[in-house]
Amino acid sequence: MSGSERGKVMAKYAEVVERHADELAALESLDAGKPLAAARAVDVGECVGILRYFAGAADKIHGETLKMSRQLQGYTLREPLGVAGLIVPWNFPAIMFFSKVSPALAAGCTVVVKPAEQTPLSALFLAHLSKQAGVPDGVINVVTGFGPTAGAAISSHMDVDVVAFTGSTEVGRLIMEASAKSNLKPVALELGGKSPFIVFDDADLDKAVELAIGGNFFNKGEACVAGSRVFVQEGIYDRFEQKLADTMKSWVVGDPFDPRVNQGPQVDKAQYERVLGYIEQGKAEGATVLTGGNPCGKKGYYIEPTIFTNVKDDMVIAREEIFGPVMCLMKFKTVEEAIERANGTRYGLAAGLVTRDIDVANRMARSIRAGVVWVNCYFAMDRSCPFGGRKMSGFGKDDSMHALDKFLAVKSVVTPVHGSPW
Ligand code: ADP
Repeated sequence: MSGSERGKVMAKYAEVVERHADELAALESLDAGKPLAAARAVDVGECVGILRYFAGAADKIHGETLKMSRQLQGYTLREPLGVAGLIVPWNFPAIMFFSKVSPALAAGCTVVVKPAEQTPLSALFLAHLSKQAGVPDGVINVVTGFGPTAGAAISSHMDVDVVAFTGSTEVGRLIMEASAKSNLKPVALELGGKSPFIVFDDADLDKAVELAIGGNFFNKGEACVAGSRVFVQEGIYDRFEQKLADTMKSWVVGDPFDPRVNQGPQVDKAQYERVLGYIEQGKAEGATVLTGGNPCGKKGYYIEPTIFTNVKDDMVIAREEIFGPVMCLMKFKTVEEAIERANGTRYGLAAGLVTRDIDVANRMARSIRAGVVWVNCYFAMDRSCPFGGRKMSGFGKDDSMHALDKFLAVKSVVTPVHGSPW
């Protein structure tokens, strides 16, 4: 199928998804525990947007004409790699589905998607909807199952040409290993993080507090980009801490189908216990609980949004990805110190800054080793903006035209120029 035909089918697919927005949002709430209004506005809206973006990209993939050093004419073709294995996690099931499937289809690949075992419903529903849009049989395949069986079958398969994965650093390592031991398929890994969110003395306090809350408690902290290490400069620290604690008093945890609720339950029992384990560890290590620190309610996997103060950089809660509603609040003095501590992690996914000083913002943006630096905003994901980490947060980009690269092979074609000695 030509790029423009693929684009047309993908645009139709976006329309079909939009028509089923309410059902898709309900499935996401039910399966992943996110508040229905957020699922409808953020998750479904983003799905349709990503799909439309890549529908528009499908007929804009082309090679280049080369200026050769000898009497040769050369050009490149960018060809689909073939079968793409897409292994995705449970925190944004539908968005993850489309952030991998859309560029793969635009590039001309076929896909085998493995949704997370905790949240398979939206992927199945979306594959079903693709038929209504005219996506040919066999192009979008969904295989449900557990990681070590269904996931590993994809990453070690000799006929899968590329794997794009989002999930934990530990599993990312297994996927690379499986590729190395099978057919050396290229892999793209979007992994964990322990991202710094840095508030300078000159920050707009209200804005900084709002961003820190969103960066830690949106999607109940189940976000790889969570800005879970909050560094606050000493001049604004006390006011920031006070305002943060006051603001959290109106935060509502509960049934995601209740419109007043800000935060639903953790995705499953294992995550719930894991997060509570980290909270206990934080207390045992000597950090102070500013808010939360306990399970919430008598039924379901609800956890109070938890803010720790008196956190030291070497505490487990400040080093490991918790993937739950747990914020570590820390004080710093100078820009140099902020840079050093922000980079003092094995991860390099995202970072946030709040400052009105353009020089500080520019210096920080260049000094932090991360895939994205958000200045005076946080969680500002956009399908037009490359997304993906460095260090142990992985490599390869989702979103933007860069996302196409992982599904394309570059082929060079060379011929002698007429009359040359070749
Ligand atoms: P989390 O720790 O956030 O649950 P995981 O990295 O375990 O995330 O899971 C992300 C995705 O990777 C899921 O679809 C899961 O089934 C899959 N997965 C887990 N283990 C493996 C594995 N050994 N090989 C391939 N995929 C796996």
